[in-house]
Amino acid sequence: MMLIDSHAHLEMPEFESDLEEVIRRAKASRVGYIFTVGTEKKDWQRTLEIAGSHPSVYAILGVHPHNAKEINDQTYGTLRDLCRNEKVKAYGEIGLDFFRNLSPRDIQVERFRQQIGLARDLGLPIIVHDREAHQETLEILESEKGGDHGGIIHCFSGDYEMARKCIDMGFCISVAGSITFNKAARFQEIVKRIPLDDLLVETDAPFLTPVPFRGKRNEPSFVRYTAQKVAEIKNVSFETVAEVTTKNALRVYGLGKSSWK
Ligand SMILES: [Zn+2]
Ligand SMILES: [Zn+2]
Repeated sequence: MMLIDSHAHLEMPEFESDLEEVIRRAKASRVGYIFTVGTEKKDWQRTLEIAGSHPSVYAILGVHPHNAKEINDQTYGTLRDLCRNEKVKAYGEIGLDFFRNLSPRDIQVERFRQQIGLARDLGLPIIVHDREAHQETLEILESEKGGDHGGIIHCFSGDYEMARKCIDMGFCISVAGSITFNKAARFQEIVKRIPLDDLLVETDAPFLTPVPFRGKRNEPSFVRYTAQKVAEIKNVSFETVAEVTTKNALRVYGLGKSSWK
């Protein structure tokens, strides 16, 4: 039995002092692979270093919607070069965050469109971040053909109809620790309806710590609490959720069975 944490941020300062311990605990909890996402220029090198020095860690690079305003003439050239690294398995996270609005909305939209194009050139699946921008995200994914190389709607927060449209475009839906929260009844009903064959689990560590560790820093070993909750909601065994979400993650990220440990 093995789990995959399909989305974490191991390069963030929250892990600086005990990264090796965090990765060791993930292995001990049967988290076979961690996909770590470098969201801005200052993090990309570190993301690649961590992936390069740990067989169980893969990298994802791109510019987060929060940082969209920092993109300049050099950014896409740099990303083109860095994404040639063999440990890079997807492009992202990209999308729209109309909750925090750390970059102006029109710039987020423009950079989202451009980065879908870049990911398509690179032949990589995309990791989509959508917060409070469901309709706009759907429209851009449709018009830019964002699902051409597959991808993931990470930390999904839309309704069932949105999930269905994304799946039809070629995306998987990734569930984070927020599914374990007390107020998640509506979201749990949505996840119940999404076929297990289209679902992944993630931590988004260091954020979104699941129950029973809410309030503490999140880490990849905690992905099992999210998988357990998915099993409970869908009334299947934990082992089934682990097996199917692992298979789904390996498929999206293009890792063949030959690379299984
Ligand atoms: Zn995100
Ligand atoms: Zn993230």
